[in-house]
Amino acid sequence: MALIVKKFGGTSVGTIDRIQAVADKLQQSRKNGEDIIVVVSAMSGETNRLVGLAHAIQEQPTPRELDVLLSTGEQVTIALLSMALEKRGCPARSYTGGQVRILTDTVHNKARILDIDVASVRADLDAGRIVVIAGFQGIDEHGNITTLGRGGSDTSAVAMAAALKADECQIFTDVNGVYTTDPRIEPHARRLNRITFEEMLEMASLGSKVLQIRAVEFAGKYNVPLRVLSSFEEGEGTLITFEDEGMEEAKISGIAFNRDEAKLTVLGVPDQPGVAHKILGPIAAANIEVDMIVQNIAEDTATDFTFTVHRNDYKKALGVLQATARELKAREVTGDDAIVKISLVGVGMRSHAGIASTMFEALAKEGINIRMISTSEIKISVVVDEKYLELGVRTLHEAFELAGESDSK
Ligand code: ADP
Ligand code: ASP
Ligand code: MG
Repeated sequence: MALIVKKFGGTSVGTIDRIQAVADKLQQSRKNGEDIIVVVSAMSGETNRLVGLAHAIQEQPTPRELDVLLSTGEQVTIALLSMALEKRGCPARSYTGGQVRILTDTVHNKARILDIDVASVRADLDAGRIVVIAGFQGIDEHGNITTLGRGGSDTSAVAMAAALKADECQIFTDVNGVYTTDPRIEPHARRLNRITFEEMLEMASLGSKVLQIRAVEFAGKYNVPLRVLSSFEEGEGTLITFEDEGMEEAKISGIAFNRDEAKLTVLGVPDQPGVAHKILGPIAAANIEVDMIVQNIAEDTATDFTFTVHRNDYKKALGVLQATARELKAREVTGDDAIVKISLVGVGMRSHAGIASTMFEALAKEGINIRMISTSEIKISVVVDEKYLELGVRTLHEAFELAGESDSK
């Protein structure tokens, strides 16, 4: 019998009716002969609600207690879904992350899964039960509840699939697959039948929240067949796969964007060895992650240095940079947190020239000013003003002819 891990996101279990619908779907899969592990998220909006409650008490919630709080969302849905299955005569049993023993490291709020004890899950499967597991959570070696970061139920599902060597990990969500770009921004976005792990990883890292980055990483590493599907309609969805010959044709597979960006510039710093370190060292020491970095060619003996950070870290980074600038006797510090990053992703870029110039030309025609550029083998990212996000994405979608009825790959 095929062993399938199925994950249902927040919208898919957002109401009692939807939980009933998920139970119907699982009952059908069971009838079709599948052995099933289900991983569920909290009901939609619940995790945000819990985060809000925490912030109403503490500006910076104690990480351990935040995890205790956030993990309750998924505990509700595993119990309700198991009840719905039992009601249908499908034997089911629910488990929190700690009960299955999804062992993680001790980093609260963004823990990494280290190991999963599959013994009890296997026993349930052998006894003909559907196993319902709370996503997004685990337990550390000291018995503390941990959570895996927002969107972490995807990773729980992939990790379960890897541990059980499941035949497929199916991520059921509110869209029927991975699209050329977020269909909420570009209605002409096209569903992809397949996308490579490498591209999906870039898309996820560059802001496409349809799959959590770690889930894609994990699936690639452990060779877990991963598919994104709709909870609400039938279909094949999108298979995340390793590269094959048929996939060479498309130059660009998708467009990702990230709204969580901010940039900082220090003007007129001495152009000397060690300056980049002097600027970014204190930023790293403040635990702020830096994304893009640009240093201008020096005029005379001074240069300008720009970098981007997560928008949540903007104020903190600005404070740190101002202190550094005083020390370095720099001329000025400027910053902007109304910027976004738009990225083209595609393994086809390796074998096609001229993609960057097509991209820049298309943006220029719309009068969109590019503030920063960064490239790697399979992606080109630009930073533009926030107000150009939709226009930028749609312009590029058209310029690279990504729209269409169905995927031709
Ligand atoms: P879930 O609650 O099921 O985990 P998410 O909200 O995390 O669902 O992910 C699904 C959403 O991802 C979609 O509703 C869509 O708006 C967004 N999304 C962003 N980029 C893409 C893309 N390239 N393809 C499909 N969906 C995307
Ligand atoms: N409920 C968690 C979140 O909203 C985890 C998840 O849904 O994947 O981020
Ligand atoms: Mg998600």
